[in-house]
Order: sequence, then C-alpha cells, then structure tokens
Amino acid sequence: MATAVPDLGPDTGVGLRDLLPLLRPHRRSFLLAAGLSLLGAAGALAQPALVARVIDVVGAGEPLLPAVGLLVVVLLLASALGALQQFVLQRTAEGVVLTTRLTLTDRLLRLPVAEYDRRRTGDLMSRVGSDTTLLRATVTSGVVEVAGSAVVGVGALVAMAVVDVWLLLVTVLAVTIGAVTAVLASRGVRRLSRRAQEEVGAMTAAVERALSAVRTIRASGATAREVATVGASARRAYQAGVQVARLEALVSPAGSIAVQGAFLAVLGVGGYRVADGTISVSALVAFILYLFLLVMPLGQAISAWTQLQTGLGALSRIQEVLRLDPEDDERPERAGGGAPVVRTGGAPLLELDDVSFGYPDGTPVLRGVSLQVPAGSRVALVGPSGAGKSTVLTLIEGFYPLTGGAIRWSGTDVRDLPRAGLRARLGYVEQEAPVLAGTVRDNLLLTRPDATDPELWAVLADVGLTEVVRRSPRGLDVLVGDEGVLLSGGERQRLAIARSLLARPELLLLDEPTASLDARNEGLLRATLAAASSGRALLVVAHRLSTVLDSDQIVVLDEGRVVARGTHAELVDSSPLYRELAAAQLLV
Ligand code: ATP
Repeated sequence: MATAVPDLGPDTGVGLRDLLPLLRPHRRSFLLAAGLSLLGAAGALAQPALVARVIDVVGAGEPLLPAVGLLVVVLLLASALGALQQFVLQRTAEGVVLTTRLTLTDRLLRLPVAEYDRRRTGDLMSRVGSDTTLLRATVTSGVVEVAGSAVVGVGALVAMAVVDVWLLLVTVLAVTIGAVTAVLASRGVRRLSRRAQEEVGAMTAAVERALSAVRTIRASGATAREVATVGASARRAYQAGVQVARLEALVSPAGSIAVQGAFLAVLGVGGYRVADGTISVSALVAFILYLFLLVMPLGQAISAWTQLQTGLGALSRIQEVLRLDPEDDERPERAGGGAPVVRTGGAPLLELDDVSFGYPDGTPVLRGVSLQVPAGSRVALVGPSGAGKSTVLTLIEGFYPLTGGAIRWSGTDVRDLPRAGLRARLGYVEQEAPVLAGTVRDNLLLTRPDATDPELWAVLADVGLTEVVRRSPRGLDVLVGDEGVLLSGGERQRLAIARSLLARPELLLLDEPTASLDARNEGLLRATLAAASSGRALLVVAHRLSTVLDSDQIVVLDEGRVVARGTHAELVDSSPLYRELAAAQLLV
C-alpha cells in the first residue's frame, strides 16, 4: 500500500496572520489575558527597585517594615495575577481549539464528494484531532506569553539602562548571540514539525484502512504487513520528532551559554564599577535582578518561538482543509438558478437527457445516457460490472458535476435546484448500505429526526426487520454491530432502505448489494421493493434480475451506454446482452 506522505499541496507558507481569524472570536479573552500580563509585568518590574530600596533603607538605618511590607505585597499580588493570567490563557487556548475543531468539522463534512475520493479519511481525521491539539500550545506559549515576556523584557531593558548603560551593553552583547542561534534553529522546527504531523496523518490513515477491513486482513494473513505499514509511518513521525528535539537541544545550550556569559560579564564589570565607586551596591543588586527578569522571559520567548513554529506547521495542514470550497447544498449548482423544487405537469419525475460523465481522473464513464422515470413507476438499471450503473445514481444525487447533457426533475434542470431541496425528495441507498455506529433508532432517525416510534416500527415492518429488532429486549434501542445485533448483508441493506423510506421520498434510488443474498433474503428484498414502490417511483440498480423482473422498464447499460430498454419479456427477445445476463442467472 502507499505509505507516502499524503500529497495535499505544498506548504503554503502559513504565517501568524493566518492565525488571526482563529483568534478573532476570542479577542476579549486575549485582551483580558494581555491586561493581566501587563499588570504582572509591572509587578515583576517593581520588585528589583523595591529590593534596592530595602538595601538603601538598611544602609541609612531607617525603619525597615514599610519597605519590606510593600515588597511582600507586590510579590503576592504579582503571583496572584500570574496565576489568573495562566488560567485565562489556558481557557482561551481551549476556546481556540474548540473553534478550530468546529470550523474544521463543519468544512470536512461539507466538501464536494469528489474531494473524499482524492483524500485519505484517516489523514483528514488527524487534522481535526492531533493538528488542532498542537495549535493549543501555539496560542498559549506562542502568542500571549511571547507578548507578555516581551513587555517584561523591554521593561527590564529600560530599567537596566537607567541603572547603568555600560553594564547593559555588556549584557545585550552576550544575549544577542543566544537569541540569533535560537531564531535560526526555529526555522527548521516548523518544517520538521509539519513533516511529523503529515506522518501522523499517514499513520492514522493506515490504521483507519486496516481497522475498516480487519476481517479481510486477518483472513488474508496480512496482519503483520499492515502492522508494519502503520509502524513505518509511526517511525517516520518519530524520526521527524527526534530531529525537532535535536534542533531544540541545540537551542538550549546556546541560550544557557548566553545567559551564564551575561551574568559573569555583569558580575565582573559590575564588581569593578562598584569598587571604583561609579555605582552603588544596591544598584548592582537591582541590575542583577533585572537581568534575571530579562533572562527568564527571554528563555520563555525562545521556547515559545519554537512552539509557535510547531503550531504553524499544524496550522498549515488545518488551513489546507479550510481553503477547500465547501458544497453549499442550500444553493443550486448553477448561479442564477434557484427554482423551487416543484412538480410540473407533463414532464417525467426524473429524466436523464444525453448525460455524459467522467470521474475527475478523466476516463469517460457514461456516454449519452438517456432515461426517464415517470412518477410512481419502477425502473431498473442492469448491466455488467463497471458499466456505470452506480454512477448514474450518484449523478442524480448531485455528488459530481455532469460533463454533458442534463438531469431534470419534473422538467427543471437539477443544476438550477437547491441540492438540499432535491435531495429531500430522493431516497438514496448505497450499494454498501452503511449502517452507522449506534442504535437501530439512531440509524433510522438519520433521515427524519422527528419520526415517532410507531412510524419506526411501521417502516421496519415494510422491510421485514420487525423480528430481528424484536429479538432484543432493548427493541429500537439495540446497538447495531459488534455490541448489539449483528446484521447480515441483506438486513443491513433493508435497514438502509427503511431509513430512506422513513423520509417518504418521491423517488427511491437503490443500489442493490452485489453480494449474493440467500433465497430468503432475496425474497425479503423483493417484498421490500414492492412495499417501497407503493406511492413512489423507484430507480433500482439491480445485480439480481429476479428482484426487478416486474419493473415497468428495465434499462440495459453497457460500457456507459444504454444498449437496450423494455420490459423483461421484451428484452429477452430483443437484447443479446440482457439474454446473456438472464441466462447466467437461470432466468431464461
Ligand atoms: P458494479 O455493478 O460492479 O457495481 P457499476 O455498473 O455500478 O458496477 P460504477 O460503480 O458506476 O459501475 O463504475 C463505473 C466506472 O467508474 C468503473 O470503471 C469504476 O472503476 C469507475 N469509478 C467508480 N467510482 C469512481 C470514483 N469515485 N472515482 C473514479 N472512478 C470511479
């Protein structure tokens, strides 16, 4: 299988400005955190001056209590403000993660269907999970702490300049060396952390692939290979992570050498200046305390800068999804459309007129397909595998744009109708008939959340599932799947049909399962189709001709073209391909 990093476009140079739209909804909290951090900075900056004052008071033999008292009060206040600021900041960061997850999920579930064909589900999932988590660190350490640290740092620099400009110059020289090294290293961190996140995406995609087909993989003796595939992605994520750690490890000694150098230089030069009487001891003590104040936020700023780069790596993956245009199903595909979805007399309920189509990868799938489904009628689509039958249904649902021709609903081109309005009139049962994790009730209510229990039971009766559901004492609340009732392929299909019928569609599009059903299930499906056809039209992609023998019209598709149409009896006479299909299923 492909283990390569999913190609979702180049790293589009995401920067801090891309972070702003995500931060904007939380600007009040940010202002509060920034205000608190300013107050905290003022408290921190006052402390060295207050310590110098205590020393001077001791030297002058004045009463000590007021000076010490003030120092203690400022210290306690600054700590309390610091704690409050941390809380506000963390809460804001959680808020930013939440906003991002909500926006991202909303976009992920609204992409045009073609986008899901191009991308791997697991990779998309990891963008909502782990990438958004990384963003949290960016917000806390990255944005506000850097801003807070900058205030303290600049304040400390000003205060140091006031105390002694020469000592300050010595300090700045030592500190600049450390800072430059850190900034250079952080560039690599962003690139590597994006790579690590891409590998996490690839790993999630590999796990998702393996879990979704675990039985087949087990039966094929491929477990070890799948584990190795996931492991390879995990290892690549590990390697990228280790490279990030290596870069970060380079940064921290550069920082500490700069810091220790600054202290030694200040002590040396400062001691000399105290000895020759240029500055007082209290001034040197205050300067050293300011140096502490400068160094601490500098260290924080350096680590925050690297955090920020990690977060921006994750943000670029999030942005890639947010930049994709969602499908707005409240609007028609064509601008300027917007006709209400109404029935007009005369025209068939659904009409495909000379429809051509190819998937985005280019190969033509349908060539000039025309067919009509009059209201209340039953039409079947049959033909060899790969003829394009399922594709016809996805086009009616509007999942892909047509390459040529038109699909009309009661005479109106569906591209001029709001997709949501049209889809509400269609029932669609996919070939794989997905049953969602949850209860039978959850599965049914998907199409009509307001349906009552009697309605649910009625629709279950229509599809012959009453007995299966009644077997469990939990009834409609029985879980479907491993922990509850295990449904056979035929039962899953009928549950999916029940779900569609509940919404009372005018036209039911049904892609019959390809898996062979036993005679009993086949009979039940036939009965279900009969029940489903009362009061609505049916367009069924049939793999078993026996389920559609009594259709009003059977359309035979071969290599994307309609090669014959008619009733079963007519086609047996007129179409060699149909005769062949029927003979293969022992029907003639
Ligand atoms: P079957 O009876 O086996 O279900 P079908 O007649 O329903 O087949 P379709 O599923 O419509 O055939 O597929 C028609 C062609 O389009 C096939 O060659 C298939 O490989 C291709 N195809 C189907 N889905 C996609 C897709 N999402 N992207 C690209 N090609 C696709």
